[in-house]
Amino acid sequence: MKSQPGIGVSREGFREILEASSDGIIIAGEDGCILFWNHASERMFGYTPEEASVIKIVDLMPEEYHERHKEGFGKFIKTGKGSIMGRTVIVKARRRDAAVFPVELSLASHKSGGRWAVAAIIRDITERRAYEHKLAHQSRLLVKANKELALLAKISALLNQSMEFSELLNIILDTITQIDIFKLERSGGIFILRDGVLTLAAHLGHNEDFLEKHKAIKIGECLCGLAAETGEVVTSMNSHEDPRHTVSYEGMRPHAHIIVPLKAKDRVVGVLYLYLQKGIAVDSARKSFLESIGGILGVAISNSLLYEETRRLALHDPLTGLANKRLLNIELERNFVLAKRYERPFSCLMLDIDLFKVYNDSHGHVAGDQMLQKVAGAIKSSLRETDLAARYGGEEFCVILPETAVESAALVAGKIREAVKTKTGITASLGVAAFDSRMPGPGSMVESADRALYSAKKKGRDRVEVCPWP
Ligand code: GH3
Ligand code: MG
Ligand code: MG
Repeated sequence: MKSQPGIGVSREGFREILEASSDGIIIAGEDGCILFWNHASERMFGYTPEEASVIKIVDLMPEEYHERHKEGFGKFIKTGKGSIMGRTVIVKARRRDAAVFPVELSLASHKSGGRWAVAAIIRDITERRAYEHKLAHQSRLLVKANKELALLAKISALLNQSMEFSELLNIILDTITQIDIFKLERSGGIFILRDGVLTLAAHLGHNEDFLEKHKAIKIGECLCGLAAETGEVVTSMNSHEDPRHTVSYEGMRPHAHIIVPLKAKDRVVGVLYLYLQKGIAVDSARKSFLESIGGILGVAISNSLLYEETRRLALHDPLTGLANKRLLNIELERNFVLAKRYERPFSCLMLDIDLFKVYNDSHGHVAGDQMLQKVAGAIKSSLRETDLAARYGGEEFCVILPETAVESAALVAGKIREAVKTKTGITASLGVAAFDSRMPGPGSMVESADRALYSAKKKGRDRVEVCPWP
């Protein structure tokens, strides 16, 4: 290299500048032999200066480039044109120990004395690449975390809506199964734990046989029971090979599972189970995200159970478990309005135990209470699901019979009278009354039934009387 006019830098000066570069600089001749390379290149490729003098530029490339390089370099020598000449490209390079690493390569060429020389500036971008990958990975994680946070917020918001709780759980399940890894199967459910038994409260993507087999799962049974028992997340990569997966059903395909216990104050109140494709694992970040959902859902379920229990206590009689007067009045009012608006039949009946004072006096109050429970059982056993039996007070009961005309109501009353007698050994008197559109309110029905009851008592007890209105 000679000093260039106007620049005033000698050949030695140029060499010093090239050596000072932290990028590798290599100059090769037409035969591919290396004419010059700086210290940075030596370090980058791991060759000593002696070795460098006998290797060719093709040795600095991985095997996969050799053919293309031979062709391209040959063409360049002939024509002076090369596809990457004068450009900066990212390619792979090969170290002395055969390790391949990414580089940014800028190529320039110069013809002198009829022969080409090619100069390459090479920057090792291994670290930059790793950094870029890390950045991309972190950015993906951020996007994921953002989506998950949005989902958690959505679930929290849903739980604040006044909606029927089981409907709410179904919507939440639908939302959770839209997460990428669950999207392919879109199947799962939420069990609520009551008295050691898991009851399916919401489900998605199941057939009849599945629902039949999963009506009630015991603690410790199958994977869901295991999660409820241990309070830990349970994962299974393949249902068909997992001996813990003990409940199978018609049409069961190989699948993977994640089961998350739903907890409130460290107490398991249910489980959320989700289906994944066989062999798919859930990473630890996802697992803890699902545990967060488990916490939110757990508290919501616990609140709902508490509400249900409070409501049950407020509206039922503790001795017999029947509706109390408060619930009776609500239902009387509701059915009265419906019967009036749609002109439907509606009846009610009153029952009073015969000579119960005598029973109490001879058997004691405790036995009297037990007898009240038996009578309540006899009444219930004679009713349809749509009927409602209530403890009206002391030893008086009231039953409301929606969609029932007076004749049928009298038959039901007869059935109850029979059942009380055979199941308890004591007798009761009953009065029946039916809805009449002229009645001012449901109180009139109760009054009528009471009048009929009074008449039954007067006529000798252990009988049914019907009272026409007014
Ligand atoms: P009748 O055939 O005319 O109805 O006679 P009766 O003795 O049943 O008279 P009444 O209906 O007035 O019954 C009231 C009695 O019912 C008083 C009490 O001894 C009994 N009783 C009321 N509430 C309870 C209760 O909660 N527990 C018990 N053990 N007895 C009750
Ligand atoms: Mg009475
Ligand atoms: Mg009585």
